[in-house]
Amino acid sequence: MQTKEFKAESKRLLDMMINSIYTHKEIFLRELISNASDAIDKLYFKSLTDTSVGLSKDDFGIELAVDKEARTLTISDNGIGMTEQELEDNLGTIANSGSFKFKSDNNLGDDVDIIGQFGVGFYSTFMVAKDVTVITKAYGSDKAYKWQSNGVDGYTVDECERDGVGTTIILTMKDNTEDENYDKFLEQYQLQSLVKKYSDYIRFPIRMDVEHTNYDDDGKEQKEITHDTLNSMTPIWKKNKNELTEDDYNRFYTEKFMDYTPPLAHIHAKNEGAATYDALMYIPARAPFDYYSKDYEKGLQLYSSGVMIMEKCADLLPDYFSFVKGLVDSEDLSLNISRELLQHDRQLKLIARNLERSIKNELTKMLKNDREKYLKFYETFGLQFKFGIYQSYGAAKETLEDLLMFTSSFEGKNVTLAEYVERMKEGQKEIYYACGESVDRIEMLPQLERVKDKGYEVLYLTQDVDEFAVKVMLSYKDHPFKSISDGDLDLETEEEKEEAKKTSEENKDMFTFMTEALEGKVKAVQLSTRLKSHPVCLSAEGAITIEMEKVLSAMPQNENKDVKATKVLELNASHPIFEKLKTLYNDDKDKLKAYTKLLYDQALLIEGLTVENPVEFANLICELMV
Ligand code: ADP
Repeated sequence: MQTKEFKAESKRLLDMMINSIYTHKEIFLRELISNASDAIDKLYFKSLTDTSVGLSKDDFGIELAVDKEARTLTISDNGIGMTEQELEDNLGTIANSGSFKFKSDNNLGDDVDIIGQFGVGFYSTFMVAKDVTVITKAYGSDKAYKWQSNGVDGYTVDECERDGVGTTIILTMKDNTEDENYDKFLEQYQLQSLVKKYSDYIRFPIRMDVEHTNYDDDGKEQKEITHDTLNSMTPIWKKNKNELTEDDYNRFYTEKFMDYTPPLAHIHAKNEGAATYDALMYIPARAPFDYYSKDYEKGLQLYSSGVMIMEKCADLLPDYFSFVKGLVDSEDLSLNISRELLQHDRQLKLIARNLERSIKNELTKMLKNDREKYLKFYETFGLQFKFGIYQSYGAAKETLEDLLMFTSSFEGKNVTLAEYVERMKEGQKEIYYACGESVDRIEMLPQLERVKDKGYEVLYLTQDVDEFAVKVMLSYKDHPFKSISDGDLDLETEEEKEEAKKTSEENKDMFTFMTEALEGKVKAVQLSTRLKSHPVCLSAEGAITIEMEKVLSAMPQNENKDVKATKVLELNASHPIFEKLKTLYNDDKDKLKAYTKLLYDQALLIEGLTVENPVEFANLICELMV
């Protein structure tokens, strides 16, 4: 028999486990029971379509047995078992356990964090056991194999005997130390309570010989040993809401989804009628480490009458709710439905629609009743909503518009669109917004001054996706979105309008001259109606705004990289510079040309765009200074 080495990463994890200072060593039992339950699930699932399995639901179970003399704890299941190859692959390599990824080669952090963040599965046994033996026989195989390891020296695999299909794991407990008592994991009471605490909802019986003390009529002590089922087996989502505490929900979440931060909210939905299901969903408090990478897989666990048929059913969650974790159990779904068919399943679509509504309602409730919490949620996951609206070309608008938040000129706070509308001035039709990379930058925008002077609240769009989302939405409750940088803001009185019209008319030729001086960089030079104390600004005409031009050009490898906004240079007629320009138009056209370029470059800089020819810009300023 040959001793094999663990793969490098597994070895490191094993070292960590063996020397673990982790205080929750007891979780090893939960891990083993959950593996056993998964293995039974797999075989039970098979048995539903394949009579040769020869077992019915009631035959399945997990057995615990203690031998205090030998200091062993045995966990045995009649699940699907493992082939020789699977033993190697699953227990020899940690990378195979899926849930574990090392952050980087030498940055292992402290083990507490790693255990907290990822499930550690089978290897956690080495926190409590000095020797682990696995005896397993795979379904469909007539050979059984024994895997054995003390963690340190690698492992051996050997052929052996086993009655029936399944897996038996024998742990020889570590010797007690001053700080740690491993004997306790051999105590009946301890095992009973660990099963209750961590594995109560496991749908197969977890049985053990339990010694009971009875007293007969004479008060004499009688010992009796019975083979008891330790878990209640009713999955938590099948229980009544009023039987469950916040703690029950949170504990289930932690165990199931390996997230040790309590969730922000849970949604326990029960439905009967057109779609019958029980769903238990959670809104996590923090994003999983891979949430913003393409590795992240959204989805809910899907059960059909208590049997898990899919680990992550993506069709149950729209992308904008991809952060939701949880499960759905429905008797309406056929057990042996394929993934492809499932996608088109009417029942599933109906359930998905219902769940979406439940999630929305929960978030709406949170926003209304616990704003602090909602803000925390929104900070972590809110960006998804804006992408959701944009990517659905507005189809998700109705679902999401009331969940959006924006920074606003109103006390600099995060506001919802409903709150904005509520505060709108009399006669105000539009929702004003301004774009920029930060609140500070936006507050410096020359265009902002007049709108704020008029007493209008302005939403500050600081994220790249913001303006795209707003453009796709077009309006909120019949109030169109309006950028303070584009188009006619209609802020002036009738008199002012008359006045402006006159000035425009009088200076028409000068504007044409200036437009030509800019050699196609702008579509027009014209009088501004949005400026107060600044001399110039840029606006855009058409679908592409200046902010979009910035976002698009900053995207690497984007086919729209060179898409430009159709720009208009706007001049403030009440600024002294305007008088100067008029004089130059009559006296010194060369100088006017130079000034026009300078003003244009200034406008670019204010917008956060780059000056096209910095050397020319610098030279022009120097000329002025000299
Ligand atoms: P995880 O459960 O996160 O995948 P583990 O380290 O706990 O990681 O287990 C690794 C793999 O070993 C499992 O995915 C499963 O394929 C296999 N395995 C573990 N325990 C059993 C068991 N009792 N019966 C059958 N297969 C098992």
